[in-house]
Amino acid sequence: MPTAESCHGRDCSRPVVVTFRAQALCLDHFCTRCYELLDEIDRCQRCHSGTSACTAEHGLIADECAARALDVCMSETLLNNLERARLLDILLWCGDLSSLHRGKNARAVFRAPAHAR
Ligand SMILES: [Zn+2]
Repeated sequence: MPTAESCHGRDCSRPVVVTFRAQALCLDHFCTRCYELLDEIDRCQRCHSGTSACTAEHGLIADECAARALDVCMSETLLNNLERARLLDILLWCGDLSSLHRGKNARAVFRAPAHAR
């Protein structure tokens, strides 16, 4: 029986660093869960370019993944280089998936305007 402070992952007693989709998770299980969800979204988008209901839901999931990953980065949790790399990878992947939902010109805003010198 897990206590309030232990991870919801199976057979896991590591400390909780984040609550994601109503589950209290340790860093390891959080990353694993994110990768599972993002992988699923990625595959769904590839095979049938998503129905609108499907993509809206995916956008929310990707945004939540990114927000929680950022929470962990900004928290007092001590992270080693591998953990930092995983969180950054998750953030970037979420960014890719979210920008697909917002239309292919979403990235244009990051480019310098043509008239800027
Ligand atoms: Zn865990």
